[in-house]
Amino acid sequence: MNHERSRLLYDKAVKLMPGGVNSPVRAFGSVGMKPLFIDRAKGSRIYDVDGNEYIDYVCSWGPCILGHGHPNVIAAVKDACDRGLTYGAPTEKEVILAEMIRELMPSMEMIRLVNSGTEAVMSAVRAARGYTGRDMIIKFKGCYHGHSDGLLVKAGSAALTSAVPDSEGVPRAYADKTLIALYNDEDSVRKLFETYKDNIACVIVEPVAANMGVVLPKKGFLRYLREITEEYGSILIFDEVITGFRLGLGGAQEYYGITPDMTTLGKIVGGGMPMAVYGGRRDIMECISPVGKVYQAGTLSGNPIATAAGIATLKTLMNDPYIYDEINARAKRLANALRDIGAYVNQIGSILSGFFTDREVNDHDSATSSDTVRYSAFFKYLIEKGIYIAPSQYEAMFVSYAHSDEDIERTCDVIKNFEWE
Ligand SMILES: *Cc1c(COP(=O)(O)O)cnc(C)c1O
Repeated sequence: MNHERSRLLYDKAVKLMPGGVNSPVRAFGSVGMKPLFIDRAKGSRIYDVDGNEYIDYVCSWGPCILGHGHPNVIAAVKDACDRGLTYGAPTEKEVILAEMIRELMPSMEMIRLVNSGTEAVMSAVRAARGYTGRDMIIKFKGCYHGHSDGLLVKAGSAALTSAVPDSEGVPRAYADKTLIALYNDEDSVRKLFETYKDNIACVIVEPVAANMGVVLPKKGFLRYLREITEEYGSILIFDEVITGFRLGLGGAQEYYGITPDMTTLGKIVGGGMPMAVYGGRRDIMECISPVGKVYQAGTLSGNPIATAAGIATLKTLMNDPYIYDEINARAKRLANALRDIGAYVNQIGSILSGFFTDREVNDHDSATSSDTVRYSAFFKYLIEKGIYIAPSQYEAMFVSYAHSDEDIERTCDVIKNFEWE
């Protein structure tokens, strides 16, 4: 397979942007390859600038649940463009989208539209702090919530201490306010609450972790988080940027029957445009300016083009109740193919990860026991066969409605013929 034009563009790009990219994982660093530059995408396929065609299981990291360029979404965007790109004033579309979200996720009594998942989480945490008057937050090792300062942290060396920055440029003072618990480990959460008691503003969690590869919550784990946050008067935030409208129209909260106080949405909700949402209980959201004293704003927030793409995506999902059954069944077939080559697979709905490890994967430590050298070989093998998966062991594979049975069959055949010596 020829990647000449991608190489040429990369050589230019790398002098103009750090790593030649606008988001680090795109640089293909962890698979030891130079990135492919993409020219276009349609349905289940993505095409690089050298004209190579791939079946795409990255799906822009989640937004493209309907596949690339779904006609409903494209039509909505084109129509919106004809009316001007941005006004900086309220629109009917924002009201329509807010009503749809509240209908699908009743816990989101009020919402705010923002421009990225990072911004949604940052704002939700600020709201939780403003509402409770507390500073500390708990996050889980291996969960990703965007790149804002207080969330770009990792566990310190001693148990029960606060976090340390996971990036240069993050002030120690920010990291000090974040406590790290272990995903699927109730004890680790209880110990933090027993130590820091009523200083904890919120617990933020990916209800299904999907940024250390896909890791499912153990039975009772989310319920435990619900109970202990209630006990200590702390806010429970579900970061559903990936799981929202992915595990079904009601997200992980409906799937597991747990009602968080606040929720963040992104990826699918923007239908491929830059948009995200935070929201939740009315009494918390009424702390947000101009009603309350927690400040949050955005020049392009509620952008009419992004809002149109979001509405069209949600409408399409709502109008065809079989979409989820179909994409989930296809994900199961991929999961089985990955099991056939010895990977440990976590799959839920239409997201999955095949970990190259002998261990059961249920937290960050077991996920990172994976053989990433083997994953790199797998990645390169798939690229050569015209199949595009995430260039990292620790990202999910996304199945879209545009993936046909033939796409899945071909992918399964290719996977099963992977040989690792
Ligand atoms: C992608 C992601 C984010 C960050 O969203 P951006 O739009 O990339 O800023 C936050 N939380 C989760 C769970 C995500 O998967």
